[in-house]
Amino acid sequence: MEAHVNEECIFCGLCVDLCPEVFQLGEETAYVTVNEIPEDLLECCREAAEECPTEAIELFD
Ligand code: SF4
Repeated sequence: MEAHVNEECIFCGLCVDLCPEVFQLGEETAYVTVNEIPEDLLECCREAAEECPTEAIELFD
């Protein structure tokens, strides 16, 4: 699975709190640090996508 943060990101930092191995804060939006999400991080990545207040995290299989 791959993840992408789109332009709806409001820079709240929640995804970084929930899954810091995958998400980090950039200059204006969060960004994804890995190309392919490792198996052991899928759950926290999905949780971050669900909890993101603007649904800015897109997941692709
Ligand atoms: S949780 Fe959503 S809005 Fe908040 S920093 Fe992450 S991608 Fe951006």
